[in-house]
Amino acid sequence: PLASFLPKLGNRQLFQRNYASTLAFIESSKDGSISKSSLSLLAAAEKLSNPITAVITGSQAEKTAKALKFFYSCKNLEKLILFEDSKLDACLPEKLTPLLVNLLKGKEYSHFVVSNSSVGKSILPRVGALLDVQPVCEVTVIKDPNTFVRPIYAGNVISTIECPTEKKLLSIRASAFAPIAEGSMESVSIKKETDIPPCDLDVNCVKTILTRNERPELTSAQNVVTGGRALKDKETFDKLLSPLADVLHAAIGATRASVDNGLCDNSLQVGQTGKVVAPDLYIAVGVSGAVQHLAGMKDSKIIVAINNDPDAPIFNVADYGLQGDLYKIVPELTEKLREE
Ligand code: FAD
Repeated sequence: PLASFLPKLGNRQLFQRNYASTLAFIESSKDGSISKSSLSLLAAAEKLSNPITAVITGSQAEKTAKALKFFYSCKNLEKLILFEDSKLDACLPEKLTPLLVNLLKGKEYSHFVVSNSSVGKSILPRVGALLDVQPVCEVTVIKDPNTFVRPIYAGNVISTIECPTEKKLLSIRASAFAPIAEGSMESVSIKKETDIPPCDLDVNCVKTILTRNERPELTSAQNVVTGGRALKDKETFDKLLSPLADVLHAAIGATRASVDNGLCDNSLQVGQTGKVVAPDLYIAVGVSGAVQHLAGMKDSKIIVAINNDPDAPIFNVADYGLQGDLYKIVPELTEKLREE
């Protein structure tokens, strides 16, 4: 009742200024299923203790919204705003930014959250620039609605940031927040928006090339087996790591040196300039443990390192170290695990 009464008194600005609420940008795949990182994003948004509105875009927006509403439970989620348009399927930041800025430029939302995915990372700086707000990136802990923790200097320093700005723009490190639980949210409303602001730039997605991978998704896998430069070539990389990953139902990761040397696709890279993972088990095979690699995996719960150099820095972060020749150890370990 207050909400409808105040605008009539001409006090709308006053009402809106005091209103804290969060806008969360949800990502989904082509078939409409919600990305795991968005489920973690909503878990992080819950910690802001504000009412949450989620924005979903693309031709499958309604399917994604229904999946979220009927199969998950997010404490403060109140509303889903859908922009159902196939032009938004490719998640081009040039097309998404105007509609997000349109939603955010008023006083309604105090917080805007995106996943630290490639889509989130390309949207947030654009939205920040247009709203003239400095984003806070890669948040790993939300202490309160104004205080956030994030790693800096490749994870070597953990900084706590107090954010005095009226609006807060945050990207969330998905691996730091467990996804929201399953359930259902009958009371969540769904609103379809048809008014999509035009994009000033003539940008279109010409082609999408999907990398097919039967294995679990690297950033959300429970177990990860990572191969380093010591694996020498693509054939050895696949021949040694695939059987080990198969018995552990693990995702395969790689160092930048492996990627640069053509041992595997760059979508497997873990580290400062690759993906950040925090699985239950991380097995590093022939990986030296450079700081840039550690930045992407040192929060793993159990780290096992296989390396023939006793002074390799990876042993400093490993819970279990196997010093020796990986060409001998990996097949033996795979065989033992298969027998279990
Ligand atoms: P190496 O450092 O060459 O290590 C190979 C290891 O294998 C050695 O420790 C060796 O003892 C061991 N070994 C060799 N033979 C055997 C054997 N037979 N049995 C057992 N062990 C053996 N790196 C990343 O991984 N991810 C990033 O995101 C990333 N970002 C970067 C960003 C910047 C700006 C820069 C400058 C660098 C970045 N790097 C990154 C590169 C990083 O510095 C390292 O060069 C890289 O991680 C090394 O990869 P590696 O461990 O596979 O290779």
